[in-house]
Amino acid sequence: MSDDRTFVIIGASQAGGWVAQTLRNEGFEGKVILIGEEPYLPYERPPLSKAALLGEVTVDSTYFWQQEALDEANIEVRLNTRVTAIDRDAKEIEIEGGDRIAYDKLAITTGARVRKLPIEGADLPGVFYLRTMEDTLAIRAAVKDGATAMIVGGGWIGLECAATLTKLGCKSIVVEAADRLCGRAVTPEISDWMYKFHTEHGVDVRLSTGIEKFEGNGQLERVVLPGGDTIDCSIAVVGIGVIPNVELAQDAGLEIDNGIVVDECARTSDPDIVAAGDVTNHPNDLLGRRIRLESYENAQNQGITAGKAMLDKAEPYSEIPWFWSDQFDANLQMIGLPQDWDETATRGDEASNEFVTFYLKDGIIDGAISVNNPRDLRVGKRLMQGKKQVTAAELVDPETKMQALLKR
Ligand SMILES: Cc1cc2nc3c(=O)[nH]c(=O)nc-3n(C[C@H](O)[C@H](O)[C@H](O)COP(=O)(O)OP(=O)(O)OC[C@H]3O[C@@H](n4cnc5c(N)ncnc54)[C@H](O)[C@@H]3O)c2cc1C
Repeated sequence: MSDDRTFVIIGASQAGGWVAQTLRNEGFEGKVILIGEEPYLPYERPPLSKAALLGEVTVDSTYFWQQEALDEANIEVRLNTRVTAIDRDAKEIEIEGGDRIAYDKLAITTGARVRKLPIEGADLPGVFYLRTMEDTLAIRAAVKDGATAMIVGGGWIGLECAATLTKLGCKSIVVEAADRLCGRAVTPEISDWMYKFHTEHGVDVRLSTGIEKFEGNGQLERVVLPGGDTIDCSIAVVGIGVIPNVELAQDAGLEIDNGIVVDECARTSDPDIVAAGDVTNHPNDLLGRRIRLESYENAQNQGITAGKAMLDKAEPYSEIPWFWSDQFDANLQMIGLPQDWDETATRGDEASNEFVTFYLKDGIIDGAISVNNPRDLRVGKRLMQGKKQVTAAELVDPETKMQALLKR
C-alpha cells in the first residue's frame, strides 16, 4: 500500500538516525527526509574523545549506517543543510537559502552544542571545543608529542580528553572551577577516586581553578590564571557543558523548559511534532521526575520511541539512565541519577580500580557507578528496576552472589 505522506527529521545524528530507521522498520512507506547541518552521515560521538581522537578509527567506521544501508531503506539524507525555521501553520520547514519542505509529521533531534567560554583569547587558533567530528579531526591535527594541553573543565568530556591526550604524548593539565571532578554527575567519593586515578596517570589536575584568559600571538601560547600566573600550552580543549538546541522549537512556539518538553512517548505540545535525544526534557517514570539526558542510550531509545509515535504506535519510554565513559584503562558505567540516597555500599576494591558503589534509598538501589566492573552493575540495574530490597552489608560482601539477590 503506498503512502504519500512526508516525514521530516531535523538533526541527522544518533536520535534522528534512529527515528528514520524506526519509521522504516515499522513499515512506513511514505517519504523520509533526514536533514543535518554536518557534512557526515549520522555518526557515533563517544569515539570523538576516545578512539577517534587517538586516531584508531576512520571517520566512516563511526557511522551508524553506511550510505548503502540508508539508500536501501530509502531514507533521503540531506547533509550540510541547516534548518532555519519551522512553520507549524503551513506544516513546512525552511532551510538556509529559503527553500521550504512540507511535512506531515516532524521530528526534532537537534541535540546540543557546546557552551562557549566567554573570555579573552578564546577564539585563538589552538583553543578547541569537542562536540563534532570536525572538532576531533582539528584537535588531532594540532596535537604534537610533548605538547602541553590545557583542558578547561573536569567533567566527562574533559577527563576523557585528558586521558586521550596524555596517551598521545601530551602533558595534560585539567583546570576545574569546582572543588571536585565531575561534580554534576558523580558523588564526592567518586570525584576523589577520579582525582587520584588521573593524577596517578600523570594528569595535572587543579581543582577550584578557573582561567582568566588565553594569550598568544596569532596562536595559543599560554593561559593566564586568576592571580596572574601563566602556563605555557599549545592546545586547549574547553569542556564546560552543552546547551540544548531548542531555538527552532522555541521560535515555533513549542513548550521549552531546559529542553523541548515531551511526554513519555516523545510527543511535543504539537500533535504532529515529536522530539528525541539530548534536546528533550522528558518524564522518567522510574525516577519519578523529568530529566534531560546527554547519553548514547537515551538518544537511540528515545529516537525509536519518537519514530513509533510518528506512526501513532506510541509506546511509553522509561528506562533507568545508563552512561559509560572510558578513561585510560578504566571503564566507568553509571546507572540512575542518584540524588537523595541514605546509604552507600562499595563492592570491590577502590584501590585496585575495580569496584561498584551503590546508592541506596530505603534499602532500594537508587543508582550506582562502576569502575571496571560492568557485570555487577548490570545486576544492580536489574535490582533497581525490580525495586528489590537489599542491604549495604549484602552488597559489600564478596560472598554475596549478586544474581541471588534478584530472586527475592
Ligand atoms: C565527545 C563526546 C563523547 C561522548 N561520549 C559518550 C559516552 O561515552 N557515553 C554516552 O552514553 N554518551 C556519550 N556522549 C553523548 C552522546 O554522544 C550524545 O548523547 C548523543 O550524541 C546525542 O545524540 P542526539 O542525536 O540527541 O544529538 P547530537 O548528537 O547532538 O546530534 C544533533 C544533530 O543535529 C544537528 N542540528 C542541530 N540543529 C540543526 C539545524 N537547525 N539544522 C540541521 N541540523 C541541525 C547537529 O549538527 C547534530 O548533528 C558523548 C558525546 C560527545 C560529544
